[in-house]
Amino acid sequence: MSSIQSGSLWVVATPIGHRDDISARALEVLAQVALIAAEDTRHSRPLLQHFRIETPLLALHEHNEQDQAEKLVARMLAGESIALISDAGTPLISDPGFRLVRAARAAGVRCIPVPGACAAIAALSVAGMPSDRFVFEGFLPAKAAARRARLQALQSEPRTLIFYESSHRVLESLADMLAVLGPQREAVLARELTKLFETVLSQPLGELVERVRTDPDQQRGEFVILLAGAGEDADAKLAEGQRVFQLLREALPPAKAAKLAAAITGAPRKALYGSDEA
Ligand code: SAM
Repeated sequence: MSSIQSGSLWVVATPIGHRDDISARALEVLAQVALIAAEDTRHSRPLLQHFRIETPLLALHEHNEQDQAEKLVARMLAGESIALISDAGTPLISDPGFRLVRAARAAGVRCIPVPGACAAIAALSVAGMPSDRFVFEGFLPAKAAARRARLQALQSEPRTLIFYESSHRVLESLADMLAVLGPQREAVLARELTKLFETVLSQPLGELVERVRTDPDQQRGEFVILLAGAGEDADAKLAEGQRVFQLLREALPPAKAAKLAAAITGAPRKALYGSDEA
């Protein structure tokens, strides 16, 4: 690469595990810019030291991004080039950076991507699920009610669904997916990608939840969860379930009506009850 274009923002992907997944171009940019804005400087320093990069670091996280963005844009307008990195993978993908990039573009600063690892795309590339169209949902809400409501809203989504999840909540989230979408929905749990304990499990949700529940090793680390999109069968079943549910509701309390409509049509009970509450 020729010299760094002055006054630009370089948005640089770093590894999601395996250090060798950083690109040659990323290393060159990180070594040449005036400043690296990093989500957590303590986290990024060992990676940069490993590659003998001595560029000064500055913290840019969700709590100071708004303030820092203005200052960094001013520095770029004055001619300095800055790189943005996050703790892992591609900045802005469930990570800080959106405000900075938006402010930089609004000020006419050139933003240049240096692509590389992204856990969602790495998982999709080995999941064996339809990948021509997909939906990235990031993290589900932390609170159970909001999480289930989000899953209910996605119930009929025909495209492959991709979620991020941490070890604290992986089992809870999988259990909610099972409750809302039913045991037959195909799922993939991609754990610790590019790291020592990488595993990629493909099973219907019912079996996957049981597997993770009974194997504590499968609850450790970082996760991408992929769900097959709703097929035409599932859509038809849900529509029929909703029709029967509405008829039964005229005579029964909603919980009872949902239970019976689910038993009659095979539609997931939670989806029917949720559709009535919405
Ligand atoms: N910006 C990152 C990217 O490009 O993938 C994502 C950052 S987000 C804060 C962290 C989440 O990404 C983790 O909780 C996990 O869901 C997912 N993730 C990151 N590294 C992973 C890995 N090696 N294996 C599986 N999932 C990973």
